[in-house]
Amino acid sequence: MYKNYQQTPAYQQQKCSYEIYRKQCRYLHISTAKLGHEECEACILLTDQEQLAEHKRLAERAREEYQKDKERQLREDEALYTLDMQKIVCLPRLLQYKQLVFCKRLTVFHHTLAPVGGTTNAKPTISAVWDECTAGRTATEIISMLLKMIRDSPLRAKKHIEIWADNCSSQNKNYFIMGALWSLVNQPNNGHETLTLKYFEPGHTFMAADAVHAAVERKMVATKNVIDTDHFSECVLTATRNTRLIRPAYSDFKKIPYPASQRKLGRDARPRLKELVVIQLRQGSNSAWVKKDFDGEFERFDFLLKKVKRDGLPINDLLREERRGIPQEKYDAIIKDLVPLIEQVDGGNHAWRAGFYHDLVCSDTSVDLAQADDEDPAEDDQ
Ligand SMILES: [Zn+2]
Repeated sequence: MYKNYQQTPAYQQQKCSYEIYRKQCRYLHISTAKLGHEECEACILLTDQEQLAEHKRLAERAREEYQKDKERQLREDEALYTLDMQKIVCLPRLLQYKQLVFCKRLTVFHHTLAPVGGTTNAKPTISAVWDECTAGRTATEIISMLLKMIRDSPLRAKKHIEIWADNCSSQNKNYFIMGALWSLVNQPNNGHETLTLKYFEPGHTFMAADAVHAAVERKMVATKNVIDTDHFSECVLTATRNTRLIRPAYSDFKKIPYPASQRKLGRDARPRLKELVVIQLRQGSNSAWVKKDFDGEFERFDFLLKKVKRDGLPINDLLREERRGIPQEKYDAIIKDLVPLIEQVDGGNHAWRAGFYHDLVCSDTSVDLAQADDEDPAEDDQ
């Protein structure tokens, strides 16, 4: 889009950087991301030809590997999924009240495991939906959900699980997720032998989960007014066929302890997370097995603390003793500004859903997640 814009007379009159162009598009609610033909910032901004060529090569290589996976005949004991978070949704979404954009609304999260190659009866889409009153979306919370999505779905019976993930956010690639998956694969009596994460090159991450999120968006548009988290969940459940919907409670979000040894990470020779394209955790192994190139061999990455290797990593302790809650000020604004609209919309058909908002709980310590971009403790050494 930006490249096209650069060809226009408007650009010749008023030149602007890609960054400003993108911000202006966002301000006007024009999406600069076209599904399937992503527009990548690195492709536009990298001026060093060698770096650009390497970035394009890696993007191409990941895409080929994903395509190969897509065409591969899976064994009965294998699962192949993509993992991604839908852009946050703010509720209620009421069509005829455009001013709602400026109101404080409830932030809702949708984390998706979508099967590579499409959903079938044996391979459901696995969707976890929760709102900021239940929990947030720090790395720990996202990883807790991933573990639950594996445990509470047909994936729990698979010996080998491979998951393609977005490489841009630190939430999908960090020592917390490596430790948690190591712990899962090495728990007694679990059915898994290997858990493997594969990463797209940043900026080139279009995958099956995006198609699910686009279908959810279409469903929301068709539904017109989407009132609360339950209502949004119905959109998710019916947007694609065969969806396993997970509605976590606060008690499904766990503390994930930091598992890595600073001493080992201090070594110059150790692999850098940002270079890795494959991370595998294996039953019976106290290391991660990693690749920097899809064509390369697995190399051993010894990252765990000695204590963790000896005693294991607890991944079942509660993160909170109660729901996360929202700030009182936000609660009051919702009750004052939004509930009256909910009671009127569609001839009062959704009035009964107002109770959902009355039942939200408040907390002095929770920040407003519509404003706080992230409260992420996993900003890790990459
Ligand atoms: Zn690119």
